[in-house]
Amino acid sequence: MMAQYLEIKEAHSDALLFYRMGDFYELFFDDAVAAAEALDIALTKRGKHLGEDIAMCGVPVHSAEGYLLTLIRKGFRVAVCEQLEDPSEAKKRGSKSVVKRGVVRLVTPGTLTEESLLEARRHNYLAAIGQVRGEHALAWADISTGAFHVMALNGAHVPPELAHLRPSEVIIADGAQEDWAEAVSETGAALTPIGRAAFDSAGAEKRLCALFEVGTLDSFGAFTRPELSALGALVEYLELTQKGKLPLLRPPQREDRAGAMQIDAATRRNLELTHALSGGRAGSLLATIDRTVTAGGARLLERRISSPSRSLAAIQARLDAVSFALEQSRVAQELRDSLRKTPDLDRALSRLGLDRGGPRDLAAIRNGLQQAEAIAALLDPFDLPAQLSAAADDLTGQAELLDLLDQALVAEPPLLARDGGFIAAGYDEELDEMRRLRDEGRGVIAGMQADYAKQTGIASLKVKHNNVLGYFVEVTATHADKMLSPPLNETFKHRQTTASQVRFTTVPLSEMETRILNAGGRAIEIEKRLYDSLKEQILDHFAELSQTARALSEIDLATALANLAAGLDWCRPDVDDSRALDITGGRHPVVEAALQAQGAGPFIANDCSLGGSSDIWLLTGPNMAGKSTFLRQNALIALLAQAGSYVPAQSAHVGLVSQLFSRVGASDDLARGRSTFMVEMVETAAILNQADARALVILDEIGRGTATYDGLSIAWATLEHLHEVNGCRALFATHYHELTRLPDKLGRIENATVSVKEHDGEVIFLHEVRRGAADRSYGVQVAKLAGLPASVVERARVVLDALEKGEREGGGARAAVIDDLPLFAVQPAAPPPRASAPPAVEARLAEVLPDTLSPRAALDLVYELCDLL
Ligand code: ADP
Repeated sequence: MMAQYLEIKEAHSDALLFYRMGDFYELFFDDAVAAAEALDIALTKRGKHLGEDIAMCGVPVHSAEGYLLTLIRKGFRVAVCEQLEDPSEAKKRGSKSVVKRGVVRLVTPGTLTEESLLEARRHNYLAAIGQVRGEHALAWADISTGAFHVMALNGAHVPPELAHLRPSEVIIADGAQEDWAEAVSETGAALTPIGRAAFDSAGAEKRLCALFEVGTLDSFGAFTRPELSALGALVEYLELTQKGKLPLLRPPQREDRAGAMQIDAATRRNLELTHALSGGRAGSLLATIDRTVTAGGARLLERRISSPSRSLAAIQARLDAVSFALEQSRVAQELRDSLRKTPDLDRALSRLGLDRGGPRDLAAIRNGLQQAEAIAALLDPFDLPAQLSAAADDLTGQAELLDLLDQALVAEPPLLARDGGFIAAGYDEELDEMRRLRDEGRGVIAGMQADYAKQTGIASLKVKHNNVLGYFVEVTATHADKMLSPPLNETFKHRQTTASQVRFTTVPLSEMETRILNAGGRAIEIEKRLYDSLKEQILDHFAELSQTARALSEIDLATALANLAAGLDWCRPDVDDSRALDITGGRHPVVEAALQAQGAGPFIANDCSLGGSSDIWLLTGPNMAGKSTFLRQNALIALLAQAGSYVPAQSAHVGLVSQLFSRVGASDDLARGRSTFMVEMVETAAILNQADARALVILDEIGRGTATYDGLSIAWATLEHLHEVNGCRALFATHYHELTRLPDKLGRIENATVSVKEHDGEVIFLHEVRRGAADRSYGVQVAKLAGLPASVVERARVVLDALEKGEREGGGARAAVIDDLPLFAVQPAAPPPRASAPPAVEARLAEVLPDTLSPRAALDLVYELCDLL
């Protein structure tokens, strides 16, 4: 057995080997050590290899899924090695013969299909990066839903696309680790290098043709060589991990970068689109606006938010669908009720395709089709907008399959096909007959108990069943003698004595048992055959069923967005190809929801107007006034509009945004080992190099991460570049008041400020954005609000006054003021510092005796002092 183990292990050295032994998966050697630690289970020993103890641990097969998930999450890959024959077969070959075993599946983050291992409301993408002569392509698939896509793009665009997809595993050619490791780790995905041969584009074409059973790929589109390379590698990897049992994939769909709003990884993070900065889903835009009621709808919403469209036609069609659902709110509600009962068709299909499904997956298809028909009937009376009418067309047309499943299946089938009991009565005559025999037998046995009790005179006699003895007669030990002596011992054959019971069998009981077993076994065989046939018939309709699933998701999303818009009073955005970003009464959906949840005051709505008299708003105002919130809410409104959603505003006019950028100065990114300022600059550089005239740029306190004058200069130059070179729309928040002078020089920049009121030395945040510059920064007042000790606040006020005074007196005076400030003294009443002059002037003045000076000499001295300044 060890020889077999070592041979299999050698072929899967990069994975933990789950070696099946009876009811357990066992792990040996280093695998055992690693797994025991990762799973926190006991590490034991079993036998010796080359004189050393063999480390071992094991997990029960029936609860293996949970352990698998933990191992995958911790970055392991697992090879599942099963027994490929019944142990009795091996025995027939000889007593020393080892049961045949083989790896049936390699479990990796990107190839999960089990319901318990997947998040229902999220995609699980496996991606591959193809590279041929400097050109690139990205292919990705979700084998749990059959989605399969490819996109040609240049190398620089691979990282942002990965950030958008958030795959769980990325396949690259061996040797290309250096190029991609960082971009991949940034998305949190596992990096899987595989042999370069898998990326060969000629081989890829053959593999794809074989997979889709076509002679040529032309009908799917003319793929470029990098695209073929990525697609082929992905399929090859699936073959490798699924051991030849390929998942059902839809024909590869070509995606176009130009079709989607470009959003890079930093922007996604900053705007907290699908994940909050804290890492979880809660607090993200997605979590706040997700009102979908099906898992497929939730996945579609995530896709839309991650990849808003740039096609006016697509955006209008999506908005039309939402508008319809808003206008027809009653039917929309009925649709949602029906959708709530709709199972996850995509994932049920995928499990059936990979032969990892069960009767419940058959029932899921039936229930899904039933709901689809009901939904189609609800929509039937209406004149639908294009997108919904296309969806409605995909809901029906499976009547035959539905009928079949309806007749064949019981209402609520069990999880496993193994035990039978899922085929409805009346569907198959032979099955009904076998079940009748089995059940009758059980009835007869129940009757035998009464007969035997009478015959023996033991009223407490019972007929029972267990897996070892089958059916048996049981009496308490007190009756043992009677049963073991004539005449009863002729009928009742002794089988077992336990502490308090004695057990017997009888010939009629055994005969009856055989009849029951035969009938029961036969019934299960028939059910298994029927299961396979139903499964095949479902898989024959894979393409249509996928369409139906997609249509249900579209309807779910449209009604969910309508529900959101109605509930929160959102408006339909007016999207066109102008350069406007004109928003009245805009709100930040996540901050507003948070305020509401805390029972804090209302969210103050604000206007924004870019693309008209100005392209850039320079926003000043104290900390905590609401600058970041304002910046982000406008970015989110543009994004939601292009995702096809209503937006949190009274009105919104959005000229198509091609790229969205958002940066925050000096965010803590120490985890990645770069100085925060360096990160800030790298990210700002990316914007200045990439933003085109249709971009929307949000910059929050850029330059904050360095010394004042450096920061100010960088912020200044950045603004100039955006204005002069990029020519894009931008919102720029800063605490550098000096910048408010820029609009005098640059025509398309305008000042705006978030207003505050000062009352008795305290600030009151009004959160109102208005045009014009802030008068001052109120930092000290904010510090006081934050609970800084009173002595520190008082001291800060003194320093501030001195600095401001020095500033008014110009240039060098400021430095001198700082030099001159007495050291921090806790006494609140420290005397105000004296304004001071440069040391040379002081030294000269120290020598002067004013009384001795003639008027002429005094005038000369003034000239001399001026020269010293
Ligand atoms: P800044 O960027 O100016 O430091 P933030 O945008 O972070 O300020 O806002 C600080 C806090 O003020 C937010 O967490 C929120 O609670 C509140 N706030 C911001 N904008 C508004 C608004 N428009 N209406 C109500 N509360 C707001």
